[in-house]
Amino acid sequence: MPAYRAPVEDTLFVLNDVLKYERYNNLPGFADASPDIVEAVLREAGRMAEEVFFPLNQSGDQEGCIRNEDGSVTTPKGFREAFEQYKEAGWMGLAFDPNYGGQGLPYTLHSAIGEYFSSANMAFAMYPGLTQGAMAAILVHGDDEQKATYLPKMVEGTWTGTMNLTEPHCGTDLGLLRTKAVPQGDGSYRISGQKIFISAGEHDMSENIIHLVLARIEGAPEGTKGISLFIVPKFVLDADGSPGTRNGVVCGSIEEKMGIHANSTCVMNYDDATGYLIGEENKGLKAMFTMMNEARLGVGLQGLSISEVAYQNAVAYAKDRIQGRALTGPAAPDRKADPIIVHPDVRRNLMTIRAFNEAGRAFLLWAALKSDVAHRSEDASDRELSEEMMGLLTPVIKGVLTDKGFEHAVMAQQVFGGHGYIEEHGMSQYVRDARIAMIYEGANGIQALDLVGRKLPMNGGRAIQAFFKEVGDFCEDNRADENMSFFTKHLKKGLNDLQAATMWFVQNAMAKPDNAGAGSHDYMHLFGLVTLGYMWALQAKTAQEKLADGAGDRAQFLEAKLTTARYFMERIMPETGAHLARISAGADSMMALAEEAF
Ligand SMILES: Cc1cc2nc3c(=O)[nH]c(=O)nc-3n(C[C@H](O)[C@H](O)[C@H](O)COP(=O)(O)OP(=O)(O)OC[C@H]3O[C@@H](n4cnc5c(N)ncnc54)[C@H](O)[C@@H]3O)c2cc1C
Repeated sequence: MPAYRAPVEDTLFVLNDVLKYERYNNLPGFADASPDIVEAVLREAGRMAEEVFFPLNQSGDQEGCIRNEDGSVTTPKGFREAFEQYKEAGWMGLAFDPNYGGQGLPYTLHSAIGEYFSSANMAFAMYPGLTQGAMAAILVHGDDEQKATYLPKMVEGTWTGTMNLTEPHCGTDLGLLRTKAVPQGDGSYRISGQKIFISAGEHDMSENIIHLVLARIEGAPEGTKGISLFIVPKFVLDADGSPGTRNGVVCGSIEEKMGIHANSTCVMNYDDATGYLIGEENKGLKAMFTMMNEARLGVGLQGLSISEVAYQNAVAYAKDRIQGRALTGPAAPDRKADPIIVHPDVRRNLMTIRAFNEAGRAFLLWAALKSDVAHRSEDASDRELSEEMMGLLTPVIKGVLTDKGFEHAVMAQQVFGGHGYIEEHGMSQYVRDARIAMIYEGANGIQALDLVGRKLPMNGGRAIQAFFKEVGDFCEDNRADENMSFFTKHLKKGLNDLQAATMWFVQNAMAKPDNAGAGSHDYMHLFGLVTLGYMWALQAKTAQEKLADGAGDRAQFLEAKLTTARYFMERIMPETGAHLARISAGADSMMALAEEAF
C-alpha cells in the first residue's frame, strides 16, 4: 500500500525563507496570510490530503466512474463525502474574490495546498480544479448579473464547473469547432453539438454543473475569429436562482482511459441547450484563455504532485527492500543483503526526482507569487511586468513539470523493480495518472511552440530579457562569494546556453520557421533547467545563510538542501548543452524524409 505525507516543512522553507513572501504584505489578501495563518492552512490542508483524499486514491482508480442509463454518473465510493469535507473546509474559495464569498487569500497559498491535494488524489482534485477555472472565467468575463448568479454557489462548491472545448475532429486547432449557438431573441442561445473528453462533465457531487462551452454563433466567421463562450447550466435556473428545468445537455458516455479513472471524462451532447453568452461575441477563445492560463499552472502542479508522491514511496521501498551488497562492502552485515538505497543507480533515480521536486515546488510558488502581483498590485507597471513574466513562464511550467512528472513517476516505479509494475504498490497508477498531464490543456508540443513562437517575441522580447537580467544579476552578485561560486558557475553556463539558443532562433528561425518548430521542445526544457537551476541557487544561498545563523534542529534539512543543490548542478544542469546542440542542428534532418518514406 502506498503512503503520502504532505511536504509542509519544505513548502514553508520556500515561502518564508527563500521567497520571503511576507515582503508582499502590501498586496490585498496578503496581510491576512500571516506566517502562523499560512502554516495553519498548510497543516490542515496536508492533514486532509493525507487522511481524507489519499485513502480514496487507489480504490477510486480501481472502481472508476459509472455512467448510468439515464446519463447520470456515479463517482467512486467515498468521493461525495470527501467533496463535502472539501466544501466545508472552504478550500474552493480560499484565494477567490471576497465579493463572491471567497476568502481572498494569496493564490500562492492556493497553489501550495493544490500540490498536496493532487499528490493525494489527482482524479479527485480535478473536480474542484475545473470548477476554479470556470469561476476565474466568469469573474473576468461575466457581467455583474452572471457573476452574482453563479459565483457564490460555485465558491461554496454547491455547484461545480467544466470547460468544454474539444470536439471529435478538433482539439489543438479550435478554429475547426462546429458546436453552434442560435440566438433566441431574449438574450439566450440554443446550443447544439458534441464535446468530447470533458473532465468532470457529469457526476454526483454537486447540485448543478455550470458548463463553459465554446460554440460558433450562426453566421459567425470561420476559424478562431468566430468562436464565442457560453454558460450552459445542467439545470436552467428558476426565477429564484435555484436549479430548475433539466437543460438539453447530457453525458452520452464516459471514456475508458489509461489513468485518472476516478475523474469522469465525458462525451457531452448538447441538443438545443439553453446557453448564455459570456463576454463579447466572437471573443470566446480569448475569454477561455483566462481560464486556460490558470488551468495550465494547475496542470504543471499535477506533474510535480505525482513526482512527489511517487518519490516518497520509492524512498520508503528503497530503504526496506534488500537485494545485493553495496559496492563498498556490506552496509548491513547483520542482514542477508543490503537495502537497495545503497546502490548508486538506485540513488541516481531518487536524487534526480528529489532534485526536481524541491526546485519544481519553488518554481511553482515563485510563479504563483508573480500571478498574485499581476492580479493584485496597485502599481500598473508591476502588474504588467508580472503578467508578462507569467505569460512567459506558463508554457514552461506546464510543459516541463508535466514531462518531468511522468518521467519521474517512471523512475520511481523503476526503483520497485517488478513490484512497480504490479498494481498493489500503487506505482503503476502514478505512471498512468501522470501521463495525461502532458496531453491536456494544450499538448506539451503546443506549449513549446507557444513559448518559442509567441512568448519569446512578445513586446520585443521584454519578458525574456527581464528573465535573463534577473538570473544574470544573481550570478554576478554572488560570483565573489566562495560558498556560492560553485552554484553560480553552473547556473551561468546554463544561462549562457539559453541565451545562445535564443539568439540562434532570432538568426535562424525568421526565414525558416521549421527551425523554430524543430527546436521548440528542447528550448522549453532548456528554459526549464535554467529556471530550476536558479531555484536551486536561491535555495542554496538561503540554506547557507540559515546554517551560518545557527540552524538548530533544521541543520540536517538545510544540509540536505545543499547536497541536493550540488547534485542538480553537477548532474542535471549539464543537459543544457545537449539541448543547445540539438536546437542549433536546425530542422533539416528532421524534415528531410519524404512523407512516403515513413
Ligand atoms: C482525460 C482527458 C481529459 C480531458 N479534459 C478536457 C476538458 O475538460 N475539456 C476539454 O475541452 N478538453 C479536454 N481534453 C482534451 C485535450 O485537451 C485534448 O485531447 C488535447 O488538447 C489535444 O487535442 P487532440 O486530442 O485533438 O489532439 P490533436 O490536436 O489531434 O493533436 C495530436 C498531436 O499533434 C500535435 N499537434 C497538433 N497540432 C500541432 C501543431 N500545429 N504543431 C505541432 N504539433 C501539433 C499535438 O501536440 C499532439 O501531439 C481532455 C483529454 C483527455 C484525454
